[in-house]
Amino acid sequence: MELYPGLHRIDAPFEQGRQVNLWLFTGRRPVLVDTGVAGVPREAILPYFVDLGLPPQDLKLVINLHAHADHIGGNAEILRAAGVTGDGSDDSLLIAAHNTDAPAIADHRLLATEVAGIVDEERIAAFMRRCGDDVPVGRRFRGGEILEIGTSEIKVLHTPGHTAGSLSLYDLGRRALIHGESVMGVGTTDDRGFRSTPFGLDPQRYRQTLQQLTEIEFELFLSSHCPPMSRDDGLESIAVSLAELDSYEAACRTALAEGVSSAQEMAEAVSQEGGYQQGRRLLSQVEHTLRNWTREGLVTQTASGAYRLAR
Ligand SMILES: [Zn+2]
Repeated sequence: MELYPGLHRIDAPFEQGRQVNLWLFTGRRPVLVDTGVAGVPREAILPYFVDLGLPPQDLKLVINLHAHADHIGGNAEILRAAGVTGDGSDDSLLIAAHNTDAPAIADHRLLATEVAGIVDEERIAAFMRRCGDDVPVGRRFRGGEILEIGTSEIKVLHTPGHTAGSLSLYDLGRRALIHGESVMGVGTTDDRGFRSTPFGLDPQRYRQTLQQLTEIEFELFLSSHCPPMSRDDGLESIAVSLAELDSYEAACRTALAEGVSSAQEMAEAVSQEGGYQQGRRLLSQVEHTLRNWTREGLVTQTASGAYRLAR
């Protein structure tokens, strides 16, 4: 559907009946934002192009908001449909992403093992099937670039947290912010009553991004997995995300006040204190928090390697 002249939302299927929003800027030099998991181009994107009368060969850029399967899995199929390799040699359609996420977008084994942390070969293979074939990332953003698409000026924002190289796009004229998953909202609760931890890879970078986004005068707030929101609903979603993060950090401080001997022990204490799901994600978040707080002098490490609150 067209949200406003020049921006379309393509509603694509994802797993377990969920959906993912893909975005299409039309006009001169059309740009597609995200490609879904493998198969989504055939099921949703290319039929949408047919309805619009847009030949895939006219696409100039595909931007991946971050290195997760539901954002990048259709890249190879889109390049194939446009009849190009994406290596830039023919001055045609390129895949673009943030510099930090680009390596895992171009190499899906790296995405499976390093980003998703999968070790089992069968699961790696299944994961890689959802990502489609490897293709090059021909353009790398650092944040701050302005793209002229049709009559719109789009600012590329580096909004790390969810992943280290997460991007958002801001349409300066329309004040529309496509944040992807830079704002993750509230956690879900599993059947044992434990909460998920939607604080991204690095909770501190995630907080900085949430604060950065509140300063943008957006009127339209566009996420990858929710319907479009007004400014007020977008700000509410950021506030709720910050409150979730506050309660995680409070659980971290309580654990550290008791003293912990390792990141693993702290993850267990934080899980108990805050009622969070144990697992690789929480451990990685706690490791980031410990590293950040140690760097800032909020946490000290004793001679035996245990962590304590400094003040
Ligand atoms: Zn994601």
